[in-house]
Amino acid sequence: MTGEALCPLCQSASRRVHSRYVRRVSDLPCSGQAVHLDVLVRRFRCDAPHCTRRVFAERFDDALVLPRSRRTARLECIVHHLGLALGGRPGASFAKRLMLPVSNDTLLRVVRRRARPRIDALRVVGVDDWAFRRNQRYGTIVCDLERRHIVKLLPDREAATVRAWLVDHPEIEIISRDRGGGYGEAATKALPNAIQVADRWDLMEERERGVPRCGPQIHESDPNRRRCDDDLSGTPHLG
Ligand SMILES: [Zn+2]
Repeated sequence: MTGEALCPLCQSASRRVHSRYVRRVSDLPCSGQAVHLDVLVRRFRCDAPHCTRRVFAERFDDALVLPRSRRTARLECIVHHLGLALGGRPGASFAKRLMLPVSNDTLLRVVRRRARPRIDALRVVGVDDWAFRRNQRYGTIVCDLERRHIVKLLPDREAATVRAWLVDHPEIEIISRDRGGGYGEAATKALPNAIQVADRWDLMEERERGVPRCGPQIHESDPNRRRCDDDLSGTPHLG
């Protein structure tokens, strides 16, 4: 234990201890018994004139225990993996048998907290109609096809609306869409360099109806299995 600690706000070192308190953290069980650690934590004064934090608690290595966490890092890791593997209630039930003091809510909270948001650029999107209310009000849904989640719900199906949204996302490389003209026109004008692919569902539906090959050259929606329209005639294994 060193005699000084860094202020979490201004990173100034301080050696002036203000007070101490006991922080209880749960650890991995031992010999079938739940283990709790009572950690003596020092509070330090921050004397940096520009800092608004007057008193702060010392921090420990993140490999030991995270700030404000009630579990050691090694216990949190186990809890996280239990939550991922089994989910909330079954995970909590199994944790109880392992003498790990954790509730199903806590399991889910740990999983959510440790889920790192992806910061990769939006690269492959699907654009299609979206019924706010069937037969009455339709909009446009934009999905991230790589991460399989909804990116945006646009209020209508107008090409201008879709075009305006696409213009703000020049990082998009591939756009999957239906075979109608509206979305295609919007994509062509907004992102002329993006590859447009045909939505697989639309392709299958058209095959079911026996619609002959038509329209501009676009590719099947799976970017890893791109084929020109010319290749689609007689292709027996869509989907
Ligand atoms: Zn400070």
